[in-house]
Amino acid sequence: MSERTQPRIGVVGLGTMGGAMAANLAKAGFPLTAWNRTPGRSHELEALGIDIAATPRALASTADIVLVCVSDTPDVEAVLFGPEGVAEGAAPGSLVIDCSTIDPAGSRRFAARLAEKGIGFVDAPVTGGSEGARNATLAILVGGAPADVERARPVLAAIGRTITHLGPVGSGQAAKAVNQVILAATYLGVAEGLVLALKAGLDPQQVVEALSGGAAQSWVLANRSGRMLANEYPLGFKVALHLKDLGIALDIARESGAVLPIAALVAQLEAGLVATGHGDDDMSALARAIRGLSGLEA
Ligand code: NAP
Repeated sequence: MSERTQPRIGVVGLGTMGGAMAANLAKAGFPLTAWNRTPGRSHELEALGIDIAATPRALASTADIVLVCVSDTPDVEAVLFGPEGVAEGAAPGSLVIDCSTIDPAGSRRFAARLAEKGIGFVDAPVTGGSEGARNATLAILVGGAPADVERARPVLAAIGRTITHLGPVGSGQAAKAVNQVILAATYLGVAEGLVLALKAGLDPQQVVEALSGGAAQSWVLANRSGRMLANEYPLGFKVALHLKDLGIALDIARESGAVLPIAALVAQLEAGLVATGHGDDDMSALARAIRGLSGLEA
């Protein structure tokens, strides 16, 4: 019996997340081609022996599975259906895995357009931060037809640790919106708590250590309190991208009748950060906003 060969993967988008995913897919032994809109983000990947394609179309024409990780819904649309896009090059029977965080209605639209060409689609947004992408420990929230999800699973297993199939196309994105709403509250809560510690004259680092064993313990307290105390916000996850995600969550809330007061408040604070030139800061810069409102250095 002949040995089963690995599918050839094409990765579109080599930013913080997509670049790390491509590196982990290459390390897992998948034959790989990659493409990025801005050339030059791919030097590290070329060193790993990854081919760089000239266009998404060229990339898709050689790939069994195309993994997309770009910023927002119009960006996914551009790389899939724009000139020289994936849909022009992908063969019937191929599969697109979209790891970007986008509007679930967009995922359903894109899946329907690709299905007309016999191309499968799963939405597979991720959570776990840039560290999770680098270490291949992401939690992946998947929507799609069961056969497509099973086909995607070995690829997803090379970039993440937990893979959950939540339902049809769009379900992964809806679950990701839930994640972003919970993160909004957690980041804001940690930022407010640390500002209170500073204003109350406590040693904030000692407070963080004391609380880490109690009920206020969280990933944000463990991994982002240092940035908030230093008032320095290297990436990470951009404020502008989280604001985009809260827009998605608030749209779903409006359509479904959910009321999300903290998500709405955090969206306003993040809009303020973007307006004052901090959209590319890590999202822990919510502490910058609370510091400023509290009369501390912002
Ligand atoms: P990033 O570092 O800003 O990278 C964005 C990538 O998208 C770049 O490769 C960029 O290309 C590409 N891109 C954007 N618009 C494009 C367009 N119209 N056409 C072609 N390429 C386009 O962002 P990231 O942090 O990797 O985030 C990527 C996705 O993952 C987002 O949906 C984000 O919400 C999600 N996410 C991020 C994190 C995190 O911690 N960073 C965690 C979970 C999920 P250029 O290089 O040409 O700009």
